[in-house]
Amino acid sequence: MQQQQIIIAVDGYASCGKSTLAKDLARNLEYIYLDSGAMYRAVTLYCLRNNIDIMQINEINTALENIQIDFRYNAEIGFSETYLNGENVERLIRSKEVSDRVSEVAVIAEIRVFCVEQQRNIGKNRGLCCDGRDIGTVVFPDAELKIFLTADMDIRAKRRFEELQRKNIEMTYDEIVANLKKRDHIDSTREHSPLRKAADAIEINNSYLSQTEQLKKALSLARKAMVPAKQLD
Ligand code: C5P
Repeated sequence: MQQQQIIIAVDGYASCGKSTLAKDLARNLEYIYLDSGAMYRAVTLYCLRNNIDIMQINEINTALENIQIDFRYNAEIGFSETYLNGENVERLIRSKEVSDRVSEVAVIAEIRVFCVEQQRNIGKNRGLCCDGRDIGTVVFPDAELKIFLTADMDIRAKRRFEELQRKNIEMTYDEIVANLKKRDHIDSTREHSPLRKAADAIEINNSYLSQTEQLKKALSLARKAMVPAKQLD
């Protein structure tokens, strides 16, 4: 039986494993994976490089006119990488400098409008797994499946530490904890699109779940959320 292509929103606090789950789901369902945080990170990188004063709205607007973000598939890793004005910035946007500033940049309404418009465009044909902070509440409020991931702080920090070590990105465990707390605070208290669990989201605490276990749970929710597609003819 043909199944309906749906949108799966995966939201939650920093470093809860959202991108791992969203990527796993996308791979299994043969859906597009969209890393919405990468867009805010790419805008932040541009602002840092060009000394944009983020308190000056005219500077932000001019910057946005000069920013083009796209995702290009890398067959070697099996996923898309982030490009900023034609440059592969996938690694640079994960740096400490960008992580330190991204939440301040993501509070700005004009920047959110810019990113959300592209996210909706990428999801217009559905068949999408997208992770972020406002995906189920603002970007795709009609997503057929909304997952809100949580995990204990020490587990989140340890996972992020190991991930950054694998990528040879320097950050101490304490710096990571401070960064996660700071971002969670800014992300959940900002005026525009604060991080919230959508009323119809299903919460999964993955502190003690393996990657395979969390995928299994999410896949079974996804299958339930898919209703048979209408036959076109
Ligand atoms: O997902 P990731 O941790 O890479 O996101 C980096 C930052 O981008 C978040 O801490 C948040 O400030 C911002 N963000 C957001 N809305 C999203 C995704 C990310 O505000 N949908």
